Amino acid sequence: MFTVPTSKRIGIDLGTANTLVYLVGEGIVLNEPTVVAVTAEDNRVVAVGKEAKEMLGRTPGNVVAMRPLRDGVIADYSITEAMLSYFIDKACGQSRFFKPEVMVCIPSGVTQVERRAVLDAAMSAGAKVAYLIDEPLAAAIGAKIPIAQPAGHMIVNIGGGSTESAVISLGGVVVHSSVRVAGNKIDEAISSYIRRKFNLLIGETTAEDIKIVLGNAVIEKGVKEEKETMDIRGRDTITGLPRSITLDELQVNEAIRPTLLDIIGGAKQVLEQCPPELASDIIDKGIVMSGGTSLLRNLDKLMTVTTGVPCHVAEDALLCVVKGTGVAMENIELYKRSIAKK
Ligand code: ADP
Ligand code: MG
Repeated sequence: MFTVPTSKRIGIDLGTANTLVYLVGEGIVLNEPTVVAVTAEDNRVVAVGKEAKEMLGRTPGNVVAMRPLRDGVIADYSITEAMLSYFIDKACGQSRFFKPEVMVCIPSGVTQVERRAVLDAAMSAGAKVAYLIDEPLAAAIGAKIPIAQPAGHMIVNIGGGSTESAVISLGGVVVHSSVRVAGNKIDEAISSYIRRKFNLLIGETTAEDIKIVLGNAVIEKGVKEEKETMDIRGRDTITGLPRSITLDELQVNEAIRPTLLDIIGGAKQVLEQCPPELASDIIDKGIVMSGGTSLLRNLDKLMTVTTGVPCHVAEDALLCVVKGTGVAMENIELYKRSIAKK
């Protein structure tokens, strides 16, 4: 049998922390940290993804490892393009005859100029056509929310750089808010707490580990006898020498609480602006959370208590956005109202 080859269709979740690629017909084919290592001299890319992440904070003077999307914005256009091109090549295979169709998901808080930049980067990275989809919509599709219904659904996607909250009805975003507070800011809160309290400097990766192991949004008193603890190593800010301390979950909770409330503040803004009919739908159905930071222990509980609306975390919270982007790429006619094209 002879089959006519067609161009591949791929969906890319270009996140501040992780980039994922979905190949239509196959599923998720790539999941790597959004990190690029370049030479200091001429910005030549030496490593991308996992390999580059291992270099963060450990590079010699002539190589710099960086996160090109730090706070949801594109810090460097040419590096973003190089990264997209690397991911597209890796997903499609090196020898491609037909250029792929590419849909990229970006935070809804991104400016028009930045949107152009992402579309241009995808085109010069080798796409035949490039589309953009808003993150809340992609997250909702990926979380299997029936977005086409004439009913309000609310999604809060909490990633590394930003928290995107939106109410969706009839396949479109009705109200949304994007705050540049999410996982990275929680890590920073932990680092600065440890510096203040213990005069100890810790690296980014250590702060993230502490968050994942000890981070807890709601600690119920008297439930457990023993507090969870962790030994941390860093550099003393006064002597300059390595030192270790023991940290417990109550201290981490104290450190991250203000940041968690800022994250939830984004969701509250959306609830406050929501038309009353849709608000009543949301009270019935609850808020769906997605993104890596939604996995922080008991963040759904804190969100429920603070907003007064029941919240729950979507299945495969880290994969909702890429799955939704892939599904939208697969059914482009259905979603074209909400998609930008180049
Ligand atoms: P982005 O879309 O910005 O790339 P992701 O949705 O991939 O972000 O989520 C990455 C963020 O989620 C990081 O800040 C990471 O530290 C955080 N994260 C991942 N797993 C957990 C967990 N179990 N608990 C708390 N935070 C987590
Ligand atoms: Mg994301």
